Amino acid sequence: MSGEMTDLSAADRTRILAKSALFDPPAATAADGRRDLVGLDRAELAAEIDAIGEPSFRVKQLWHWIYHQGVTDFAAMSSIARPLQGRLADHFVIGRPQAAIVQTSTDETRKWLFRFRDGQEAETVYIPDPAEDRGAVCVSSQVGCTLSCRFCHTGTQTLVRNLGAAEIVGQFMAARDAYGEWPSPKGETPRLLSTIVLMGMGEPLYNYANVAKAMKIVMDNEGIGLSRRRITLSTSGVVPMMDRVGAELGVNLAVSLHAVRDDLRDELVPLNRKYPIADLLAACRRYPGSSNARRITFEYIMLQGINDSAADARELVRLIAGMPAKVNLIPFNPWPGSHYQPTGKAALDRFAAIVNAAGFAAPIRTPRGQDILAACGQLRTDTSMGSKPPRAVLS
Ligand code: SAH
Ligand code: SF4
Repeated sequence: MSGEMTDLSAADRTRILAKSALFDPPAATAADGRRDLVGLDRAELAAEIDAIGEPSFRVKQLWHWIYHQGVTDFAAMSSIARPLQGRLADHFVIGRPQAAIVQTSTDETRKWLFRFRDGQEAETVYIPDPAEDRGAVCVSSQVGCTLSCRFCHTGTQTLVRNLGAAEIVGQFMAARDAYGEWPSPKGETPRLLSTIVLMGMGEPLYNYANVAKAMKIVMDNEGIGLSRRRITLSTSGVVPMMDRVGAELGVNLAVSLHAVRDDLRDELVPLNRKYPIADLLAACRRYPGSSNARRITFEYIMLQGINDSAADARELVRLIAGMPAKVNLIPFNPWPGSHYQPTGKAALDRFAAIVNAAGFAAPIRTPRGQDILAACGQLRTDTSMGSKPPRAVLS
């Protein structure tokens, strides 16, 4: 990579981070002024503890109670003496987003509409794996999205704000509360809610600071302790930030490709106009740690008559040739007002067979929770306000 290119992407990164900060959430403080301890990193927690005159070993204790035991009440912290429990409760809370609506699908998928302190809302979905006794929690990173992918329900909602680290970790913790999944396991005993996919509402790489902080908290071994292999971050292709994810988090990467030609991808995923397919794939090729054990996942939504031909499949395998990758074929999930049709079974199977024959796994993602609008791309929290103008105006 040339020096000039490195400088350019560094400048781009700085610009993206500065712009993202404009959408940061309000401080994580309860209505009565008490600070929420969830979402603080260890250094910030240490500063809070120091500010009330307590020694630093309390940080380890609190971390254990909050993220390993999952308690929300200081009175349950049995290794901490009563008077200090009271003092902690005078200054702090251990918060959770409030579940405004909970729906469970006929296939056991569960969706929460979480409400945060300022009244903003986002959705979280738990998708149990029918073949195993565990499943994935699909977490949102923003309320709305600045991007307007044409097939995505969230993309019709304007970006209201980023979710804070407390709110991102909080979605997972509240989901675990609902299934009685505390304490976090030590060693290899898994919990039902053992995987996180950052595939809910929003573009996680346009909220990198909060997402990264939240993921570092869930990966901390003395707390929730999820391995980076159990976390998948999905991006529509914010190229400069993909390098940062690789260097700092090392989680699994999923890339929403959806088209193999720039003219079509420009239309389906408008961010492509800024970061075209060649740049996106170059970033995938440099993603660290991609080995056969840690393949990049290309997400490819199947839209009837749009991107699902045999020629598209052949071009796809040409583009990703030589990369440790798999292709997740996602049947289009309709939502109220959507214009596309899902690809039929024969064309889906034909596409998968071509990708498979080239040596790439190409599972067809079974839609989950469609009856409660919980499937990929169906999430949207605000049906009355904050809509973007009709697409025709945008394009
Ligand atoms: N903003 C990120 C992560 C959230 S979207 C991204 O775009 O990758 C998670 C996945 O759902 C993406 O692959 C997205 O393209 C896909 N998706 C969006 N709308 C969909 C729909 N209507 N049907 C099926 N998948 C959809
Ligand atoms: Fe945003 Fe992802 Fe939906 Fe595109 S697919 S509008 S990036 S949430």
